[in-house]
Amino acid sequence: MGNWFTDKYAEGVPEHRFYAGCDNVDEIESLACRTACSLFGADHAYVQPHSGADANLCAYWAILDNRVLTPYCIEAKVKNYNEMSREDWNNLRTLCRNQKLLSMDYYSGSHLTHGYRQNLSAHLFDCYYYKVNREGILDYDEIEKQAMEVKPLILLAGYSAYPGIINFRRMREIADRCGAVLMVDMAHFAGLVAGKVYTGDYDPVLWAHIVTTTTHKTLRGPRGGMILCKQEFAESVDKGCPLVIGGPLPHVMTAKLIALKEAHTPEFRKYAASIVRNSKALAAACMEQGLKVLTGGSENHLILVDVTPFGITGRQAEKALRTCGLTVNRNTIPGDINGPWYTSGIRVGVPAATTLGMGAGEMKKIAKMIYMILSNTVPKVNEQGLRSKSGITMDDSFVQSMNKEVRELLDTFRLYPEIDPDFIEANL
Ligand code: PLP
Repeated sequence: MGNWFTDKYAEGVPEHRFYAGCDNVDEIESLACRTACSLFGADHAYVQPHSGADANLCAYWAILDNRVLTPYCIEAKVKNYNEMSREDWNNLRTLCRNQKLLSMDYYSGSHLTHGYRQNLSAHLFDCYYYKVNREGILDYDEIEKQAMEVKPLILLAGYSAYPGIINFRRMREIADRCGAVLMVDMAHFAGLVAGKVYTGDYDPVLWAHIVTTTTHKTLRGPRGGMILCKQEFAESVDKGCPLVIGGPLPHVMTAKLIALKEAHTPEFRKYAASIVRNSKALAAACMEQGLKVLTGGSENHLILVDVTPFGITGRQAEKALRTCGLTVNRNTIPGDINGPWYTSGIRVGVPAATTLGMGAGEMKKIAKMIYMILSNTVPKVNEQGLRSKSGITMDDSFVQSMNKEVRELLDTFRLYPEIDPDFIEANL
């Protein structure tokens, strides 16, 4: 992202800009879109969203544009919003606000932008949520039943904290039956789609009308967002600027292009396959240690662990692990009694460790460390004898020895060995 495009404004889309001097940006952006289409087998790509949240907002508006706004304008014989009377305009706004979104429940593992009440999406839509079953897995028959009752404009699939895979063919079948647009947010697993780990029924691009993603998670590119869609939605998706975003970021689009090119290589496919292998290995090793791994495994790049058997919250687990040198984040689990701030679980992802070159042996070591650390974490108790939901007590020498163990592991998997003088000296 550190390149000269940083300084260029380029509102609009290639060959149709509100700014002059965009010839090179046009070339870069068009190439990034073409590369995204060939990598994912999409009809159309839009690489301008600054983030995953932006991409979702653009996609919601694209669906509203295609299914609600444009048909309304055609019927009212209006070519331009500015020609509309205040009354017509307000009718149209009300019509948009009454549309229904059916998405995964936040506590089942979805993202805030999928209709969580603290996010704009919940203000925009009349939101309904489907949940995972008792085993923590999606039940398509239940989703279908709910979708037929709700009849949403948008059926949304995708997650931030779900350790399973989604059958997108089945989701499309449900969307078609209830007359919804199928939108998939593959922010977390885009790299597994690009790396051909998820194919056929599990490839969202094949089945969804619109797919949104970040470019910085398993896709391993710059911080940013992207939208892929069927031709039918191309024109509406390209209205992202000025509908949602202002000036696109040409330097980030350049970096997205590089990431998309990298994802086209056999090395990336190997990386994607290794991510899932490592995640499965970590889940198995954690269970061997006695940790409560949700769904009993992992089909993607992350695992979820219920930490309540240790008598602590997710926040305390996060703090304890961080104190010992391991950074994971706390996460809600289905039916969480501790809410989204304290939580009852932790979410552990393996893509970064996989990039460092770690494999099954290291996953075993990490599982053991997690177990040891959580077993040695005691919640703080206040003067009234009440257990804290965030404070912890740990033995200093234990913390020191765990930090040493983490350091030793990382020393054998350096992120930038070529710029680390100690490592260079030791290996010369
Ligand atoms: N969608 C999903 C499923 C996510 O997990 C995230 C971020 O974690 C986002 C969207 C938002 O992405 P960003 O942080 O780039 O806005």
